[in-house]
Amino acid sequence: MLTLRWGTATDVGRVRKLNEDSLLAVPTLFVVADGMGGHAAGEVASQLAVAEFARLAEQQGVSSDDLAETVQRANEHILSAGAERGDRYGMGTTLTGIGVVSAADGEQLAVFNVGDSRVYRLSDGRLDQLTVDHSAVQELVDAGRITPQAARSHPRRNVVTRSLGSQPSPAPDVWLVPPVAGDRFLVCSDGLTGELEDPAIAELLGSSDDPQAAADELVRQALAAGGHDNVTVVVLDVAEVPDSAPAGA
Ligand code: MG
Repeated sequence: MLTLRWGTATDVGRVRKLNEDSLLAVPTLFVVADGMGGHAAGEVASQLAVAEFARLAEQQGVSSDDLAETVQRANEHILSAGAERGDRYGMGTTLTGIGVVSAADGEQLAVFNVGDSRVYRLSDGRLDQLTVDHSAVQELVDAGRITPQAARSHPRRNVVTRSLGSQPSPAPDVWLVPPVAGDRFLVCSDGLTGELEDPAIAELLGSSDDPQAAADELVRQALAAGGHDNVTVVVLDVAEVPDSAPAGA
């Protein structure tokens, strides 16, 4: 078995009245969901999504396909819950995370994403964003029309192009990542990345050996930078990798 350690932190921020982010951190699944929709519906959507993953975590052995199927089930639940009540119609959520999945050559980490919450990896002091945002500004960056820096202040920076609670069911991007002892992962909502740029995130993420202390510090600094949105972080450390698992690629 992989040995993992983690810490989590979430805060409503300094502007919003409700925290519509939800998170899950259990031994095999680490998920952040950022809900959208008026009248607290976003909170319902992100909670429904996370609850579906909590059910998956009870199962023995999870595969990448299970993650994609769980996204689909969560999507259906959000759609049907939205259809039941007018004030929840159209609610949705982003969903991103890391699952410990069993593969033929041992346990792997599956990074999955729908929307503009993110997963980063800090390895040997170097920060890499592993997920690619499903957002209007990411499309403009990909097309070479704006710089990543311009995307941070672009008027459409909050427009998400893929989310749960939509038809047809959104397919998650999934990447398999070999677990490497000493690597640290960050799963976060855009309330963190909207306030802090990558160099600051890298510094704060590496600021303590204790993942809980690092999570607390990231949220504290996002609030200090303005706290315009709900902010949620999961910091996950790969402490030990069994010998049978593949070495780092
Ligand atoms: Mg947000």
